[in-house]
Amino acid sequence: MLIHQNFTGGNIRIEAIEDNTIYLNNELRDTPHDWFYWAFCAENFAGKTITFRFPKERIGYYGPAVSHDLKRWTWLGAGEEENAFTYTFQSEEDKVYFAHSMLYHPDRFAAFAKKHNLELHELCQSKKGRSVPYITFGDGEEIILLTARHHACESTGNYILEGVLEGLLQEGLPSTKVICIPFTDFDGVMDGDQGKDRTPRDHNRDYRLNEPSIWPETAAIREIAANGIRYGFDFHSPFHCGERHDTVFLVEKVETKLAEYDVFSEILESVWTADALRYDKRNNILPGVEWNSPNAPTFACYMDSVANAKLACTLETAYFGTPDNIFTPEKAIRLGRCFAKAIVEYDKQA
Ligand SMILES: [Zn+2]
Repeated sequence: MLIHQNFTGGNIRIEAIEDNTIYLNNELRDTPHDWFYWAFCAENFAGKTITFRFPKERIGYYGPAVSHDLKRWTWLGAGEEENAFTYTFQSEEDKVYFAHSMLYHPDRFAAFAKKHNLELHELCQSKKGRSVPYITFGDGEEIILLTARHHACESTGNYILEGVLEGLLQEGLPSTKVICIPFTDFDGVMDGDQGKDRTPRDHNRDYRLNEPSIWPETAAIREIAANGIRYGFDFHSPFHCGERHDTVFLVEKVETKLAEYDVFSEILESVWTADALRYDKRNNILPGVEWNSPNAPTFACYMDSVANAKLACTLETAYFGTPDNIFTPEKAIRLGRCFAKAIVEYDKQA
């Protein structure tokens, strides 16, 4: 029997094993405060019933995400205990993946690109020497820049992004080139890091004015935006769960753009379809509220002030959602399609 993290996105530490209970925790690595991401593989447990126990809030409302191939994910379902789940491995179940949330494997993005005849280009080499992928399509002077995984563990953003790309491929903006970096912190995504607030700073705090980036990916993104962009959208996941973090919301960063956020949010509400994850603009977070510091050196602020984007913002998508609005990849992709439609409609009005 083996519990391990030797796969894309893996992150686990075994604390103790007692009979049929395995005590686990995640690895924070270079995140200097508590965070919640974990993902592990259980091999050779066929026929056994095992309880996996965490010391604190590491499991969402619907139990862990479960997969047999790192591609298709389902929720196990809520167990009786908040910080533990029990799984009965069937006789042929030799290898099962469990995770905090539904992972998004870079291979899935490669398959998506292939399906749409899009070539994966190299944005740059990561610090660890990996080739960081990006795609581009459409012709024109104007650039729409789409990014996800500035924080490595935030996979919900990739599902939204897939829908946005599908929508823009089908109904693109005139004279506009789409440039998409799906895994900004590529090493973090591959290695299963938290990525959030990493030391000395994470990828979404690496957009300081008058100071070069420390991450090759953010340096390359800044270079793409050097001559200005029209739109910049960055897709994230929020905190583990609770209140606003159970919803989908826009992060409104720039005081002078409140009216623009409002117009865009209203359009997004109006084009939203009932088969998608719900979006309600009342969940948007205003500048200066809670953690939303308006002057943080983020992608969105940088694209607004330096790249002079007409609209640049972050969309946060809950890991789990609420019982009437549970996160699934399909519903997130559909919301992404609504988001693309909202961009097209907004652009018509702009
Ligand atoms: Zn984030």
